[in-house]
Amino acid sequence: MERETAPALNPTDATAAHTALALPVPANLVEFMAMYGTEDACLEALIAARWPDGFACPRCSHGKGWRHANRRLIECASCGHQASPTAGTLLHMAKLELHKLFLLLYLLVAEKDGANAKQLQRQVGVNYKTVRLWTLKLRDMLHGRERDKLVGRVQIDETIVGGSNGTSIGRRLGENRNYVLIMVEDRGKSCGRLRLEAIDDAGDSMLQTVVESRVEKGSTAHRDGLADYNGLKSAGIKHKAEVIGDPKRATRGFPRCTV
Ligand SMILES: [Zn+2]
Repeated sequence: MERETAPALNPTDATAAHTALALPVPANLVEFMAMYGTEDACLEALIAARWPDGFACPRCSHGKGWRHANRRLIECASCGHQASPTAGTLLHMAKLELHKLFLLLYLLVAEKDGANAKQLQRQVGVNYKTVRLWTLKLRDMLHGRERDKLVGRVQIDETIVGGSNGTSIGRRLGENRNYVLIMVEDRGKSCGRLRLEAIDDAGDSMLQTVVESRVEKGSTAHRDGLADYNGLKSAGIKHKAEVIGDPKRATRGFPRCTV
């Protein structure tokens, strides 16, 4: 049977030399497990997609190579060059195991009404932050949104959408209410680009994960609040927190983010 294929590995990093690998798409979970149930099976599928006519060394074109024992690489038998089947794709250098990433992608595609991050966490067996980060990346890829990250001074705030004001206590939400994270480039007298992201909660870990995936390294995340995002620093994003408190002052401090 000829299988449908999909460009499952379009990268989103616009600065890289992009490569899309077409992988066979399983029709159901049973097929998925047979095709991509192990790390080895996923790597073999990537190698087959990268070199459909058999391995060819990117450096010397030699046709023979060996798989590296512990890394996702093929070493050329002639020149020793180590070629990566994931080079230039979204999965390149991913710390998460391939079979978990593939399963995340499959579940995201299979769930028509949108997969729930907490469900995915349980189903794939990874931590919540990892699910959120990869869900954002994979959704961008699936929807063809190769969006550039925001740069420069970026104002960040979260708001609540839906429901009535009386149903939330602190950061707990009532029925039909959702947090939305607002990220907008502050270009002095005008706004730059805007990103809105629905989030499950307004906890620091969640905010940090989303900001990391939407704001470019070297930028400054400017936010109302006390939270010290150490994770952002390690991701190369500067963080400036300012406690505003009074809504009237918020308009001055965050003119692009006041809702
Ligand atoms: Zn070679």
